Amino acid sequence: MNRNSQIDFRSDTVTQPCDAMRRAMYDAPLGDDVYGDDPTVNRLEATAAELLGTQAALFCSSGTQTNLLALMSHCARGDEYIAGIDSHVYKYEGGGAAVLGSIQPQPIAMSADGSLDLAQVGACIKPDDFHFARTRLLCLENTYAGRVIGQDYIARARALADQHGLALHLDGARLPNAAIAQGIAPAAISQPFDSISLCLSKGLGAPVGSVLCASEAIIARARRLRKMLGGGMRQAGVLAAAGLYALEHNIARLQQDHDNAAYFAQLIQDDLQAASADAVRVQSVQTNMVFVMVDMRCFEALRAHLARGGVLLPADRSCYTHDSRDYALLRLVLHLDIERADIVKTIDLMHQYFQAQ
Ligand SMILES: *Cc1c(COP(=O)(O)O)cnc(C)c1O
Repeated sequence: MNRNSQIDFRSDTVTQPCDAMRRAMYDAPLGDDVYGDDPTVNRLEATAAELLGTQAALFCSSGTQTNLLALMSHCARGDEYIAGIDSHVYKYEGGGAAVLGSIQPQPIAMSADGSLDLAQVGACIKPDDFHFARTRLLCLENTYAGRVIGQDYIARARALADQHGLALHLDGARLPNAAIAQGIAPAAISQPFDSISLCLSKGLGAPVGSVLCASEAIIARARRLRKMLGGGMRQAGVLAAAGLYALEHNIARLQQDHDNAAYFAQLIQDDLQAASADAVRVQSVQTNMVFVMVDMRCFEALRAHLARGGVLLPADRSCYTHDSRDYALLRLVLHLDIERADIVKTIDLMHQYFQAQ
């Protein structure tokens, strides 16, 4: 539970830095990072590069910025990138690649795990013909909606990219969750990619920051573009210290979030679903996200009941029809400020609501 004593399921971005992380920020040696002088930023970048097995890394303000820098480093004006139609880089970043990079997106339908049909990707790669934009880059996302993309799929995507001379970028905002879920090293996931964006401010619990990991050449281009976009920061070590603490202390513990997510889903499935006469259902869980379906007819009342008990649910929901009932589909996210006792409390509040009906 966080310092606001609310149980906040809205996202894994809502975490508060723990005391030890705050101390690391307070104690961090600092310099001017635009001069390359900040020892803490340099240490964070070296640590991230080592973790993902790349030559270099760049500390940035956000995952939106690291994704944009990657796209602009791989693609020139008039080039094209291929990405999933619901991927973060295409759908949730304000069209930045088009606005700021003059890069054209080629969106493609996604499977539930975030993978793109590779035959369809192949069919969308434009031939070398002056009618077409030059297809330069394929972007994948892992995890996507809490789901993990298989390593065999990534290898096939790499082979396709090689066959067509494309670069391969990973939006690995939650790459550590994918690594923990599969019991493999983060570098095993990042290895086939030419660039990887990793968020320090999601499940890893830092208050701010993402790193772009790639070759020296790509990072040199990204560093120039970061300055151009106003992202050159000065004594940024005060922030990088939090990210460094996150990389050093908060990866292995993601297993707890995954276990808590599975536990939450299990409690709904084994008990609450029947107690609510199927008004609450749950989908299968792979990492730290639980997709819960709540009958539309009681959704707002249940949400208000939970809010009174200090439990925050996400505001966005999509609609889902099952057995001819309309459900709100909610994404609940587990993170380091939610403990097992908080899950028990949430389930108890839900039971209380349905018992009173
Ligand atoms: C959060 C997120 C990002 C980056 O978001 P910022 O809020 O800009 O740090 C990128 N991709 C995915 C999949 C994300 O979840």
